[in-house]
Amino acid sequence: MTGNNTEFHADADVIVIGSGFGGSVAAARLVDAGMSVLLLERGPWRETVPVREAGITDTRPLPRSGGMTSVLRSLHLPVGPKSGIRLNKTGFLDMWVGQGVKAVCTSGVGGGSHIWAATLESPPKEFWNNRADGLDDGVLASHYNRVGKELKGTQPTDARRVPNHADHAWEGVDHFTPLGVGEQPPMAVLYPETARVTGPLTDEQGIVRMPMDFQKDHGMFGSPDGSKSTVDALYLLPALQKGLVIKPMHEVREIRRDRDKGYRLLVHDLQKQEGLTLSAPRVVLAAGTMNTNYLLLHSRQAGNLGELPGLGKGFGVNGDLIGSWPVPGDGSRNSVAGPPAHGRIKIAGHENSCYVLLAGGDTPPVPGFLHARARAKAGRAFDVVAMSQDAADGEIRMHKGRMKFSFSMSGSPSYAATINAFESLAAQSGRPVRFDGKNVFTAHALGGCRISDDPAAGVVDGEGQVHGHPGLYIADASVFPQPVGVPPSLSIAAWASHVAGRMQP
Ligand SMILES: Cc1cc2nc3c(=O)[nH]c(=O)nc-3n(C[C@H](O)[C@H](O)[C@H](O)COP(=O)(O)OP(=O)(O)OC[C@H]3O[C@@H](n4cnc5c(N)ncnc54)[C@H](O)[C@@H]3O)c2cc1C
Repeated sequence: MTGNNTEFHADADVIVIGSGFGGSVAAARLVDAGMSVLLLERGPWRETVPVREAGITDTRPLPRSGGMTSVLRSLHLPVGPKSGIRLNKTGFLDMWVGQGVKAVCTSGVGGGSHIWAATLESPPKEFWNNRADGLDDGVLASHYNRVGKELKGTQPTDARRVPNHADHAWEGVDHFTPLGVGEQPPMAVLYPETARVTGPLTDEQGIVRMPMDFQKDHGMFGSPDGSKSTVDALYLLPALQKGLVIKPMHEVREIRRDRDKGYRLLVHDLQKQEGLTLSAPRVVLAAGTMNTNYLLLHSRQAGNLGELPGLGKGFGVNGDLIGSWPVPGDGSRNSVAGPPAHGRIKIAGHENSCYVLLAGGDTPPVPGFLHARARAKAGRAFDVVAMSQDAADGEIRMHKGRMKFSFSMSGSPSYAATINAFESLAAQSGRPVRFDGKNVFTAHALGGCRISDDPAAGVVDGEGQVHGHPGLYIADASVFPQPVGVPPSLSIAAWASHVAGRMQP
């Protein structure tokens, strides 16, 4: 491997690490601004209609069979190998287990946009105000508008044609309060124009997708027909045409600062099983909250990034609490029919205590002959997915070479309110809501690299640049100074758009 004493050779104007919402939006914007951009992603391209139609052949399927162990890429436990247990280098899920909290993230080109439930939501008003110089809601507003359109957030023309859609499925029940005008969030799915699913559609950028067939699986194990918006299809395929270079199966292991010239990345090519060094004057880190914190903590420990005193502070879980709520016993409902999320609901008497989505159960990736039975079982319960602005008082740190992190629900009043709401839904509906009230399972880890003008309190400034490290930027939810308390990906995409917009060619 090349050390810091060798000549600095830039492989691109900018290297982007990670291809989820943050990395894909940033890479696409930078290519549009005329820069040469290299995107490094540890996972493979996923086999979907838009990717196949774009001519990409070296792909791996989305999980549909093989069981949960085949789906797991890596597992990071408080014991065992310090850098985690690698189960399957092309696996879909990356699990991090900490004290009081487990966090899940995804691996593959497109990152968490393959697992997401495609709900687009804006943060509370004033979320971005008074965080750092030059940053406020007004500065972010145009980015929210733009990424909302690009992710193709939409409402169905007729919600009644969409099975389980929250706008019609619960009429007449007392335990849900109807939403006001404009409160139902857009979904990033390609709704069929008619009740009948037609053939593939090509959008204005030449991306081919199928309209959603509501009787097929599109949930956390991805949407092979491309009917759920994913950032590999909507941002990366068009950017490839404009010169973006993507290296899938390339895992960044360490970031080294070359004081005057930029950054050298120690990278592992997981296909060839060999190490290489790639360098650029500017680097955008968008590996997702858990992996971005890990990379920075590890690189700091290796002596490459100075002290970064704000690193690891303010870790939060977006108030995530997931309950399982059985469908009514009369056999009238099947929770898995429809898009992955059925919409926002408000629990009567608890309208403002937390943000709640109702989603279909997910069919696990069992072998084909067990699929129908597993799907029927999944259809017998809804996921009640609550979010809130927790205290973000968790911590991420390095201890003897291992990333340790912790979060306790007890520090966040918002959790007591959410648990009350779940118990009330159970009492009002006469059907239990099952959840773990002690340990958090989060799909929305955030913080650890917070935005702040004070380097002791945060890691990045209002433009996403790491304090004391010119040219190193962060474009994922690790920068959030507080939980958004709603689905976060629209905000991650808007932040990435803002960060890339401030990087001059
Ligand atoms: C079941 C589920 C449902 C969800 N539903 C919604 C929803 O409806 N709405 C919503 O807003 N959000 C939703 N989310 C959350 C959403 O998935 C995340 O907010 C989003 O993916 C985070 O984007 P990101 O760009 O920060 O990181 P990610 O999407 O996690 O992308 C990071 C990428 O970096 C890659 N990477 C990591 N480390 C390295 C490395 N060392 N080298 C190279 N590459 C690396 C990863 O493989 C990954 O592809 C959901 C999440 C889950 C789990």
